[in-house]
Amino acid sequence: MAIKVALCGNPNVGKTSLFNALTGLRQYVANWAGVTVEVKEGVRKWQGKQIEIVDLPGTYTLTSFSLDEKVAREYLLYKPVDVVVVIADALNLYQGLYLLLEVVEMGVKTILAVNAIDEARKKNVELDRYELSKHLGVSVVFTSAVTGEGIEDLLNTIVKVASLPATQVRVNYSEDIEKAIDEVRQSLSQIELSEMLSRWFSLKCIENDPEIMEFVSNRGVKIDFSVFKGMGEKIARQKYDMINLILKEAVKKREKSLNVSEAIDHVLTHKYLGIPIFLALMYLAFNFAFSTVQPLTDAVEWLFTAAADLIKSTISSEMISSLLADGVLSGVGGVLSFVPNIFALFLILGVMEESGYLPRAAFVVDRIMYSLKLSGRSFMSFLLGFGCSVPAVMSTRGISDPKERLVTILSVPFISCSARLPVYLLLASIFFRDNAGTVVFGMYALSILVSISTAVFTNKILFKGEPSFLIMELPRYRFPTAKNIVLYLWNRGKHFLIKAGTIIFAASVIIWILSYFPARGDVSHSFAAYIGKAVSVIMKPFGFDWRISTALVFGVAAKEVIVSALSMFFGFSGTISFAQDLSMQISPLQAFALLVFVMAYVPCFATLGAIYSETGQKRWVVFTVFYSLLVAYLLALAVVFIGGLVL
Ligand code: GDP
Ligand code: MG
Repeated sequence: MAIKVALCGNPNVGKTSLFNALTGLRQYVANWAGVTVEVKEGVRKWQGKQIEIVDLPGTYTLTSFSLDEKVAREYLLYKPVDVVVVIADALNLYQGLYLLLEVVEMGVKTILAVNAIDEARKKNVELDRYELSKHLGVSVVFTSAVTGEGIEDLLNTIVKVASLPATQVRVNYSEDIEKAIDEVRQSLSQIELSEMLSRWFSLKCIENDPEIMEFVSNRGVKIDFSVFKGMGEKIARQKYDMINLILKEAVKKREKSLNVSEAIDHVLTHKYLGIPIFLALMYLAFNFAFSTVQPLTDAVEWLFTAAADLIKSTISSEMISSLLADGVLSGVGGVLSFVPNIFALFLILGVMEESGYLPRAAFVVDRIMYSLKLSGRSFMSFLLGFGCSVPAVMSTRGISDPKERLVTILSVPFISCSARLPVYLLLASIFFRDNAGTVVFGMYALSILVSISTAVFTNKILFKGEPSFLIMELPRYRFPTAKNIVLYLWNRGKHFLIKAGTIIFAASVIIWILSYFPARGDVSHSFAAYIGKAVSVIMKPFGFDWRISTALVFGVAAKEVIVSALSMFFGFSGTISFAQDLSMQISPLQAFALLVFVMAYVPCFATLGAIYSETGQKRWVVFTVFYSLLVAYLLALAVVFIGGLVL
């Protein structure tokens, strides 16, 4: 029989790292909460036993306020596991033990893994395993997912604990609460529950947990829950009191030396300096990412051009060679030539995230977010949005306030995802050669502005909510490990490569077909031209002809497709280059309007799908489509209008 094990713990304590160490799998280890939204599973053979391990989303409590908490709790409640390993950060046991007590109260077999024990040693914090185990009534293992210490010990303990009967650990509360528990338990007696679970359900009723109250009401239990008002806080306080007592016995901290990390922290999270430092670092990062890899970008471009030339000169069938050279190679190659830039940007973001700097930025902007009625929790979704809007929209599950969550879902897609980057790079390199890095940075800054404005706007029209607070321990500064950076790069970059091989490839073929037929090669009388000509009517103010309009239409499938389509439509005749052809069609000002339009208009299909699945309502998809089109159109108009006055 397999042993089923669930890992749970506060966000950022090293659950995923330990999961990887235990199972030998390689899930990306992120530096903040909200990344592990789905439950991940893995298997390990140990002492002849099959151990099945799941990595639950990070939570602080088992009260179901946020979706992450709900997922973790429902898993523990409804999927029987043999052993729960609660992972706590050795340097933040206070918060970790709270969750441990909540798990233990459910009556499941529990192990406490005190992780990052290496860090604790470095900080001269001494922990007493025996004292912890004695007072908590569970087995305790010290682990480090980084050095591998304690992993075998943990596996041995899992096998041992699974074979023993569950220990019944009880947190004893003050008399009034114990009395209330007894009362509720009597009313619950008609529901079949184990001894421990009925106590746990009673506690949750007293804490006024909405789901549990509904659960018992649905089973005909009539309790006036309002009489317990204020008792929930009391229960939490008494748990913390107990934890404090235990920690006094078990933790010894020796003299602390002056800490470099704290000094750096002070500057980087400074009230006023923090934001300019953040912006300056991002600016440098962008410029560095784009200037250093330019030779690589040129090389990839050259390669694709050479391949296209080769095909044109060797394949005699005009139609086949056009499909391969003008369709597939030009469409996919146009996008692939930006792979070096994209990897360079992810490399830098990876280093910033891995070292612990980006989570600090969340703290710096928390103050601003608060005034927007959002929390630092939303900010982390926004940061994910720079990679791809889909996981960013999904990561909002960690936001406990449903209104804040909806506002975040609606504003996050405006953050410039990596798919828009090729479009920016293409246009910036043609029209703003010397200032390409600055223009691209500007697009990112503008995208942040637009999504913040959207947050304010949607908050205004939808509701007035108070934000929830950011409860996040700042991760320690770490020297980023090469392995983690490579994993980060690969996990983020591979989507781009996969997309190039699938969606963009397919879109290129479709666009080629639409632009080859029915006039057999005469693009200006093709199906694509008919579509574009219809759309270009409303694009008149920006000087976008049918070719640009068609590209924008196809860009809804995936933003990179805009690059593929433009590469196919411009420079088509072969007498002039792509860049020359494009710059004859639009002025730099109009190119800027195009950039702005691409930045803001309709998110790709995948994102719209994510918005639908996360909100469960079609109207938010419809809202997103029309709202973003309106914003894009107005912004582009503003560009040509203001630009026309200035220039
Ligand atoms: P999760 O949010 O609980 O899944 O935590 P992660 O596994 O994503 O880890 C958060 C961060 O802590 C990562 O950057 C890890 O490299 C780091 N980390 C995890 N375990 C340890 C450990 O035992 N020692 C040290 N020093 N760092 C760790
Ligand atoms: Mg994780």
